[in-house]
Amino acid sequence: MSSKMTRRSLGRLLGATAGAALLDARFPPSLFGATAPTAPAAGPIRLSANENPYGPCAASLNALTASAAEAARYPGAIERGMREAIAKHHGVSTDCIVLGSGSSEVLRMADSAFVPPGKTLVAAEPTFEAVLNYCKATRGESLKVPLTADHRHDLPKMAAACGAGTGMVYVCNPNNPTGTIVGGDELAAFLDRVPPTCVVLVDEAYHHFVESSKYRSALELAARHDNLVVARTFSKIYGMAGMRIGYGVASPANAALMETHTAWDNTSQSALAMALAALADPGVVADQRKRLNDTKRWLCAELERDGRSYIPSEANFVMIDVGTDVTPVIQAFAGRGIQVGRKFPSMGNWLRVSIGKPEDMQAFMMALRQVAPARAAA
Ligand code: PLP
Repeated sequence: MSSKMTRRSLGRLLGATAGAALLDARFPPSLFGATAPTAPAAGPIRLSANENPYGPCAASLNALTASAAEAARYPGAIERGMREAIAKHHGVSTDCIVLGSGSSEVLRMADSAFVPPGKTLVAAEPTFEAVLNYCKATRGESLKVPLTADHRHDLPKMAAACGAGTGMVYVCNPNNPTGTIVGGDELAAFLDRVPPTCVVLVDEAYHHFVESSKYRSALELAARHDNLVVARTFSKIYGMAGMRIGYGVASPANAALMETHTAWDNTSQSALAMALAALADPGVVADQRKRLNDTKRWLCAELERDGRSYIPSEANFVMIDVGTDVTPVIQAFAGRGIQVGRKFPSMGNWLRVSIGKPEDMQAFMMALRQVAPARAAA
């Protein structure tokens, strides 16, 4: 089923009067795309997992179909091709690349390799919790450093927290759930301060959405820091969250160590074929970034029109202050067929919403105005 929703079908979803009111001049028709009208997709509007609702590019979908012919074979050959393509993409050698079943697996490998029992993981609070959860399984300790008042990683405090007992420090850039970044100069100063015995894991799952000129990928600093590991994913800009493919870039020694903590053949023929095709597609990143960032700009303008407090985001999600415990708000959205959230306990009044298609965000704004009226949130 096509994913396009027409102005008429959105009007039906929202109710005739409200839909018409919303669909007037405030929403640029260009955001709806130019293809023929079709029915809306069934099921809830999914704005809770920072997925890319547009899905894989055409080249990846063709690769998915073609990969059926190789389903009987282990993925060794294409895996080598994938390592080579990623290495070339980043200008590093192939022995620097580890492949994961999503970048989540790369985070887990890093925990297992670098935070054994007796070692500590340093991470921001709040941040993407996977690395902290996996650390519990490896029986490492964790130490959380609160974000700054403007919701960014407090890199000086995080560096000060790293000592001889620190196995790894995790920097999520942009950070999930706040969407904030640390700048390239800050990151460089941080890497200079952290002891070389401590691995610095920079999670760049949302790298491709960033527009700030202050930002630089940690990969630009990799040559100077053997203790740096960078995680990337095909789940976000490339729209392949369901396929489970991500990778890490590390020194050859650290990459080899991480690989001892994963299963052989941990990625599939299909996911590898799709990812290879996506990497080779020259337009996919710019196209997806533009359409999702344009929709994010629309959302933020609406939030401002309401006078709401939100955190300017460099990723494909936005944190909004709802002025009250977010749990019943998330439930109220669910009752209206819209999945949002989850709650981050140290930011209990904040709602994280992923950027969906324009019509999804219109439905979201309409529901937000009902379940958390702007006056309560302001
Ligand atoms: N890192 C961050 C910061 C995330 O937000 C996510 C998922 O939302 C992941 C990693 C995991 O992504 P995946 O395992 O799909 O590559």
